[in-house]
Amino acid sequence: MNPAPVSTTAHARRLEGAPFATEIRDQVAADVTAYVAAHGYPPGLAVVVCGRSAPSMVYLERILKACAQVGIAGSLVDVPGDNPAEQARELAAAIERLNADPRVAGIIVQMPLPTGVGLRVVVDAIDPLKDIDGIHPLNAGLLRLGYEGFIPATAHAALEMIHRSGITLRGADAVVIGRSPVVGMPLAFMLTKEDATVTVCHSKTRDLAAKVRNADVVVVAAGQPGLVTGDMLKPGAVVIDVGINVVEGHIVGDVDFASAEAVASAITPVPGGVGPLTNALLLSHLMRAAQRQDQAKEYFEA
Ligand code: NAD
Repeated sequence: MNPAPVSTTAHARRLEGAPFATEIRDQVAADVTAYVAAHGYPPGLAVVVCGRSAPSMVYLERILKACAQVGIAGSLVDVPGDNPAEQARELAAAIERLNADPRVAGIIVQMPLPTGVGLRVVVDAIDPLKDIDGIHPLNAGLLRLGYEGFIPATAHAALEMIHRSGITLRGADAVVIGRSPVVGMPLAFMLTKEDATVTVCHSKTRDLAAKVRNADVVVVAAGQPGLVTGDMLKPGAVVIDVGINVVEGHIVGDVDFASAEAVASAITPVPGGVGPLTNALLLSHLMRAAQRQDQAKEYFEA
């Protein structure tokens, strides 16, 4: 059956991340001020880098700048090593030092790791209380069971965008494109918890367009520019584009914005949508980690 013709005259509401990111950062800045008053030093975020690559350095510098803006002590920890075995050893040792440092409240490790250094090294080493990007199995398990733990900042940002934009999830048909452990799957669990009916699509999904066509909410996290086009969407769908791709020197998402904007009721731009919210939420996770570590200390000292 041919898809129903869609109107291309309407224009979707643009869901910008910056205003929400500002609200979140303002709250974090206030919390940091209270923390400094109580401790005499700021909470620390350690960004661990194992093998520098230019694009990842841009992202990390943005995080460190955001830390400075709200008063968090951000630091870059370079892991030495000339071969994967040495890098893996040094990476584990660096994370263990940071676990033991009371001034470091949260740790993130820049991905992807160098070839030959497995994610398992990080997973085995990182203290779940400092795992502010939710990669430790304890945090992943808490999310899976519906309890509060640390969730990956990007998945959190996509959900927060939906919440703060006043979009109803209860009973909605949602399609998540992408099944990675850091974006697609955590989102699928969170959307299910919010009473959406979720279909998870991936690279082996047959007839992606047919799945997308049924969805009230489409979240795209595939890393494929132009994967979702306006003619695939149900008129009035909400489109959350998590993708970040560089095409001819420009950052673009996974959604063909021009055609999708004409059919959707709301859509996130790339850049400027989910990305700014991800950074702000990472800072709020850091602050929450610092507060939880205080509570854990009080509990064990009582
Ligand atoms: P990934 O490569 O780990 O996973 C991609 C997923 O997309 C896989 O599950 C794969 O099966 C699926 N996929 C690939 N091609 C597909 C296709 N043609 N049809 C359907 N599914 C397909 O990537 P990731 O780490 O989950 O990241 C996804 C995207 O989100 C990337 O573009 C990444 O740059 C971006 N990202 C954005 C932020 C942010 O702050 N906005 C943060 C992290 C990642």
